[in-house]
Amino acid sequence: MPMKTPDEYLGSLRRMKPRVFVQGQKVENYVDHPLLRPAINTLALTYAMAQDPQYRELMTATSNLTGEVINRFNHLYLGPDDLVKKLNMVRTCAQKALCILRCMGGEALNGMALGTYAIDQKHGTDYHQRFLKFARFFQDNDLICAQALTDVKGDRSLRPYQQADPDLFLRVVERRKDGIVVRGAKDHISAAVGSHYIFAMPSRALTEKDRDYAVAFVVPVDVKGLTHIVNTTLKSAEHQGDHPVSSKYSTVESLLIFDDVFVPWEHVFMCGEWDAMEPMLFSFATTHRHSRCACSAGVTDLLTGGASLIARYNGIEKASHVREKLTELSTISETYYSCGLAASIFATKTASGYYAPNMLYANVGKTWTAKLFHDSTRMVQEIAGGLIDTVPSVSDCENPELSSAIDKYLKGRADVPTDERLKVFRMLQDMTTFGTVCYWSTISATGAGSLQGAKIMVARETDFAAKERMVKELGDMPA
Ligand SMILES: Cc1cc2nc3c(=O)[nH]c(=O)nc-3n(C[C@H](O)[C@H](O)[C@H](O)COP(=O)(O)OP(=O)(O)OC[C@H]3O[C@@H](n4cnc5c(N)ncnc54)[C@H](O)[C@@H]3O)c2cc1C
Repeated sequence: MPMKTPDEYLGSLRRMKPRVFVQGQKVENYVDHPLLRPAINTLALTYAMAQDPQYRELMTATSNLTGEVINRFNHLYLGPDDLVKKLNMVRTCAQKALCILRCMGGEALNGMALGTYAIDQKHGTDYHQRFLKFARFFQDNDLICAQALTDVKGDRSLRPYQQADPDLFLRVVERRKDGIVVRGAKDHISAAVGSHYIFAMPSRALTEKDRDYAVAFVVPVDVKGLTHIVNTTLKSAEHQGDHPVSSKYSTVESLLIFDDVFVPWEHVFMCGEWDAMEPMLFSFATTHRHSRCACSAGVTDLLTGGASLIARYNGIEKASHVREKLTELSTISETYYSCGLAASIFATKTASGYYAPNMLYANVGKTWTAKLFHDSTRMVQEIAGGLIDTVPSVSDCENPELSSAIDKYLKGRADVPTDERLKVFRMLQDMTTFGTVCYWSTISATGAGSLQGAKIMVARETDFAAKERMVKELGDMPA
């Protein structure tokens, strides 16, 4: 069966030799690096859950390409039901590890499935068959890929071909008989470390003059010429007990430098077709925003649970303002999830036969996730009080000169051990003041594209003229 155990996944990473830098140091054994390992643990969880009878149904699907049972993250969407199941899978994973890091690969796979078909329809190319061949291999080997969309972009007011330095968007610098050579950089790429492959595609609409920038392909993470400059969410491997969330499961993003990387034709899925790339780009972005509805719901579930627990430990669980805030937090989670559900149920069947989530509802969901995460952490902080910031460190609590005083004076409700109360404070600190929250605040605001990008899509999908007509009709006014 084409599914790896967590150990087989770790073994497959150990056989790869990507060029990785962390905090200025070149890293040889990246799998066991203390700042990278929590992110690799997050990805390994997706393999463990697929093997666990409790989650098997949620985490697996039957491939339409091979007929085999595969990890659902690598499944192509064959109908609304697949999208609902992906939504539930992502929410459940986020409830266990916050950002699960594996969504982008599946979204890239689905974006490529639709996108290559659309390019072939317009240009008579054979990208779709090439892509399907790769997708079979990918599913059969239970692989993970990162999705490299975001270019470094230089002057944002200029198109790729107008930039002072032509390499500020990833581009083709050479077309050869056996493949292409690409140069440029992609930024903030989640889980590039921890993946087996990197899918690259353009980050914006292009014009004819940008033809060289219309390029999509897949490369192994250790392809010659590729460098990973990695940002880790966990900044220090010391005092892990003070960061109980981010030292267990974490995230990593890479600035990826493509220094004249060769890509064989069999792994090239777009090369120059600037006028036919929209379906690929929009499909990936919409599918990613669809997942965002689920992971944000899962993370807010954790915030709600943590706030409820600390309210109980502090004896304020019945206070009306606390009940109100907890209810609001729950409303926020379910709002995100409802948008994701609507985007699943009203999914569009594309010409390729594969489904894309409804663009309007997925983008509405993304806008709420961008706006409400910061409100959510504020409410958790209001409920928890100042210890969420100033909780004594594990080292303080373990110091015999201090431990009994801390135990006595930082007790909340008499029947709750102080160390349990402080552990919840540390988790909430990780999730609302620093550590994991730094990642989540930014990813909510800007990940899956900027808030403005999502709003543009909402405006594009809204028929304002039809709404004007409704008002005229209600007011018995001429059309
Ligand atoms: C933690 C994290 C993980 C991420 N993971 C991935 C990933 O796995 N793969 C991936 O491809 N990307 C990833 N991203 C990138 C993310 O999608 C981008 O951050 C996002 O698209 C915004 O791009 P930017 O960061 O370059 O900001 P900018 O594009 O510079 O945006 C900053 C602001 O400038 C505005 N702006 C930009 N251009 C214009 C313009 N021409 N006119 C007017 N306003 C403009 C934007 O609307 C926004 O308000 C990740 C980001 C983060 C923070």
